[in-house]
Amino acid sequence: MAIIIDGKETARKKREEAAARTAALTGRGFVPALAVVLVGENPASLSYVTAKEKALTEAGMQSRDIRFPADTSEEKLLGLIAELNADPLIHGILVQLPLPKHIREDRIITAIDPAKDVDGFHPVSVGNMVLGRPGFLPCTPHGILVLLEESKILTVGAHAVVVGRSNIVGKPLANLLARREINATVTVCHTGSGDLGRYTRQADILIAAAGRAGLITADMVKPGAAVIDVGVNRVPDVSAQKGYRLKGDVDFEAVSVKAAYITPVPGGVGPMTIAMLLLNVVEAAENCLAHR
Ligand code: NAD
Repeated sequence: MAIIIDGKETARKKREEAAARTAALTGRGFVPALAVVLVGENPASLSYVTAKEKALTEAGMQSRDIRFPADTSEEKLLGLIAELNADPLIHGILVQLPLPKHIREDRIITAIDPAKDVDGFHPVSVGNMVLGRPGFLPCTPHGILVLLEESKILTVGAHAVVVGRSNIVGKPLANLLARREINATVTVCHTGSGDLGRYTRQADILIAAAGRAGLITADMVKPGAAVIDVGVNRVPDVSAQKGYRLKGDVDFEAVSVKAAYITPVPGGVGPMTIAMLLLNVVEAAENCLAHR
């Protein structure tokens, strides 16, 4: 039976670290603040921003909640970003994705000042990450690295297979895993990979970030592998209060019998994403204070 990686506990430690660093700044009259921008009423996005805002407040930071209707123009949103970039009381800017279809996400992300890009999605942040320079790392991939480290999962020489190539999870994660200090050999799978099991069965570390409930079945996992499930899928369930329940990309019951380590959904990667966001916001505020 696999060891279940407790993302909530590791996230709690990271949130404590963020709170301690926040307290040190607050003691100097400087309160880290994040602008959280939500356009439209996507229920999943709404629950994510609510969780982020709650975590910020608990860590002693400020969150400025900005809500816009779904029909907001791209120009209006760009105007808001320019204001937030210039606002000395705001240290980080988070625009919750996905944005409504008529707004070009890359235009909005690129408009954010890289010094306030606490999501790590700006091309400058991505470039810094690829080059191994200091900068904000994207929260979910960074949180996964911390989970691997905390669980003492050997990455050096391991074959890591990442299922998914999105800009926010798969691509940055693959890049980070190949860093010299992590030293994994990385395979990236995607919708063009064909027989997915052919690759996943070779994984010492298997990371599923496809957004397909139950995609990874036990026959696709090597015995003794570490399996990290990034997927958060809403599966209809009439017996659940909300009418759905959250399921990962991995068939947890069957795979946990075969793997050596596994993350649950919820309670695995999700809490780490928020914890790493808090640390990025503190870092943005610390950088700001250092450059005053
Ligand atoms: P995305 O839709 O942008 O990308 C999914 C990727 O998976 C694509 O690159 C696609 O090529 C690949 N893919 C899809 N189906 C596949 C299949 N059958 N075989 C092989 N590859 C396949 O998604 P994303 O934004 O990267 O998110 C992925 C999942 O992770 C979603 O469920 C999302 O909700 C979740 N997520 C969780 C967190 C967290 O904090 N826990 C953060 C971000 C995303």
